[in-house]
Amino acid sequence: MDNPWKRAQQKLHSVASQINLDPLLLASLIEPERIVTVSLPIRRDDGTITTFPAYRVQHNNALGPYKGGIRYHPHVSMDEVKALAFWMTIKCAVINVPFGGGKGGITVDPKILSERELETLTRAFTQKLFPILGPTTDVPAPDVNTNAKIMGWLVDEYSKIAGKNSPAVVTGKPVDEGGSLGRNEATGRGGCYALLHTLQKLGLNPKGMTVAVQGFGNVGYHTALFLAEAGMKVVAVSDSKEGIYVEKGLSPEKTLECKKEKGMLAGCYCVGSVCDIKNGKWIQNQELLTLPVDILVPAALENVITASNAAKTSAKIILELANGPTTNEADVILKKNNVIVIPDILANAGGVCVSYFEWYQNMHNQDWTEDKVNKKLKTYMKKAVDDVFMAKSKRQVSLRDAAYIVALERIQKAWKKQQK
Ligand code: NAD
Repeated sequence: MDNPWKRAQQKLHSVASQINLDPLLLASLIEPERIVTVSLPIRRDDGTITTFPAYRVQHNNALGPYKGGIRYHPHVSMDEVKALAFWMTIKCAVINVPFGGGKGGITVDPKILSERELETLTRAFTQKLFPILGPTTDVPAPDVNTNAKIMGWLVDEYSKIAGKNSPAVVTGKPVDEGGSLGRNEATGRGGCYALLHTLQKLGLNPKGMTVAVQGFGNVGYHTALFLAEAGMKVVAVSDSKEGIYVEKGLSPEKTLECKKEKGMLAGCYCVGSVCDIKNGKWIQNQELLTLPVDILVPAALENVITASNAAKTSAKIILELANGPTTNEADVILKKNNVIVIPDILANAGGVCVSYFEWYQNMHNQDWTEDKVNKKLKTYMKKAVDDVFMAKSKRQVSLRDAAYIVALERIQKAWKKQQK
């Protein structure tokens, strides 16, 4: 299995050598600035005690407070969290928001916990992390298997310990607890803006293009929804268990309704009432990645496009909305096959962009309209795509390397000022 942290370090070394990054800065980016490991014992509903390991990695804060989501997943490991924190440092710089990079996670399958247990676990995590969190220090957000409700528990616990209401300590909160309108949909919406702007730059018409989306959670669902609204044909979606393929195109909204009703995607392809998708077929997760589509959107977990399946991918464009979905070996194969990869550090930056808007509103006691949030998100995403394309043509590199170059040059500029 590809180690995402090793991969991140390799990429940093290779891009650093292309731009003569200061060796001292390289040395400080090659390992996180701080790693906190905690253990979280909680009493279960049946009276037994289970202890969960958890992490917070603060990678770099040259541009601003550490920023990054918290993931609840049975496979969360330190190396995964380190890689995700590093990618946040790079992503915040690409989208040009004043944040550094951080990430956290608990090694837990949240699906086996009751709501009370989940809340107890989240509050315990907050208590242990309290000394290193804060609106101008480290600001978490949701990630895989965490959501606005969980962020609400986190901010409530933090505020209780701090003795004052501190909404800016976390983003992705419920809107009535200081969250921003548009944050929940932001990563998918931002990805859609990035793709449409890229297509425009390439002179391609999005109407009727076929799309397959892996992952049908927050990011996957909203991406499918917005791409369908933009006139594209979403033909396949999948979740952790399996997927559905509907050649004529499916309705993301009806598919979500069906998934909620059945508790899983399985069977949605033949549910009579969901007429748009009744001509579909069941597919395995792996199959989705090699379907004959124009656009492939990995929106689940890392390491899914690998050396063993990259050559079988028939999409001409990959929009990476998951973090780290493509291994370095797969990247080489995709490049050889002229597949355009809109890299994660650009494509999924809409989430942290609107997190910044949320944080800004909290810090300045403002409430923006959803329209204002979405318009500003579009401006930031388009500018980031333009910056990356400019670096690409200047240096004759891939979009991924160009995005790294944009980010590292920005970080270096800020870092140099701090050295004086
Ligand atoms: P989520 O928990 O809402 O959804 C994850 C989805 O992935 C679920 O539908 C799950 O069933 C599916 N999944 C898991 N394993 C799978 C597999 N092997 N094959 C197919 N589907 C699988 O999480 P999310 O917030 O949508 O995050 C998805 C990805 O986007 C992650 O890589 C995350 O780091 C990244 N991301 C999220 C945000 C955000 O704002 N939520 C921002 C930037 C990046």
